[in-house]
Parts: sequence; C-alpha cells; structure tokens
Amino acid sequence: MVIPTPPVLISERQIQRKVGRLAARISADYGAVDDLLMVGVLKGAFIFLADLSRRLAIPRRVDFMALSTYGDGTTTGAVRLIMDLRTDIRGKHVLVVEDIVDTGHTLAYLMKTLAAREPASLACCALLRKLDRKKVDVDIDYLGFDIPDVWVVGYGLDCADQHRTLPYIGTVAPGST
Ligand code: 5GP
Repeated sequence: MVIPTPPVLISERQIQRKVGRLAARISADYGAVDDLLMVGVLKGAFIFLADLSRRLAIPRRVDFMALSTYGDGTTTGAVRLIMDLRTDIRGKHVLVVEDIVDTGHTLAYLMKTLAAREPASLACCALLRKLDRKKVDVDIDYLGFDIPDVWVVGYGLDCADQHRTLPYIGTVAPGST
C-alpha cells in the first residue's frame, strides 16, 4: 500500500528551533526547581516530550497520561481518563506537555484533574494550537505555533495511526488515509 506524503505545514527545522526556544524558556523559569515533573499526553505528545525533555537544562522526570474523547470528542467535550500517572504529584512542580490544543476540552479536563491533586505548581506547554476552533478558555503557558483549522499529522500526531513518525508537521484531508 502506498501512503501519500503529507505536504509540509511546519518544517523539521522550524520545529527544532521552536523546541530549543521553549526548552530555554522553561529551563530559565524553572531554574530554582530541583525536580520538575513533565507529564506527556499519549499518544500524540510522545515525540515532542522526548525532544523537549532532552533539551532542558534542569533536573526533570517524565510520566504519561492517556485520555480519550467520547464520540468525535470535539462536539460534546466529554473526556475520559484511560491511563493515569504513576507519580503522586502533591507538592510537585508539574508541566503538562500536549501535542495540540483544538477545542481546549482535553487540556481543560486535564488541568482541572491535575490541579485537584494539589501540585506545588501546574503549567502547560503545547506545541500547536488551533485558535479558530477554541471552545473552552484554557491558559497555555508555553506555546509552539498557532495553526489554521486543518488536520495535522507528524511529529507524534496521526491520522488513523499513520504518519506519527514524520519529522515535520504536515496536513492531510480528513479520511485520506
Ligand atoms: P481538544 O478538542 O480537546 O482540544 O483536542 C482533542 C484532541 O484531538 C487532541 O488532543 C488531539 O489528540 C486531537 N486533535 C485535534 N486536532 C488534531 C489534528 O489536527 N491532528 C491530530 N492528529 N489530532 C488532532
């Protein structure tokens, strides 16, 4: 089966430059913190988390959560936790690492869930945001790129589990794989 190569929206070089800048800001902001916990949201954030965490100049640990949305997720906003952290975050400094914020329902749910566990601090870093699709107000402390309302793949993001390992962010028409 031949799968067409998605056209480039954000190049590998642009992503890597941005990851470097985000890592520098986070390292500066958390300079006084000796144990930052980075929480990656599976599956989409796994590559972004891997790159970002390796470029931080401060002590850090990583853990993961997985969430899913009911139905198409973007209309109802109902989110379900399907894999929880292994770490107790009470009193810890936590940085959530997300691939993409679309309507904002997923991130809002995640931040509310984690805040209830009483971390010392809670912030989030998202690589991409679709501003036009916003339905819920949720603060993003560290943002990579604002993008238009298109379906994006690559750098961890998929379309029907294809294209996750592309080194760049590309676009696909929905249902094209
Ligand atoms: P939300 O609407 O809750 O902000 O985002 C829900 C989830 O939909 C995101 O975490 C992401 O997994 C997925 N998503 C939204 N837009 C895209 C996209 O353009 N490409 C991919 N691969 N996933 C997306």
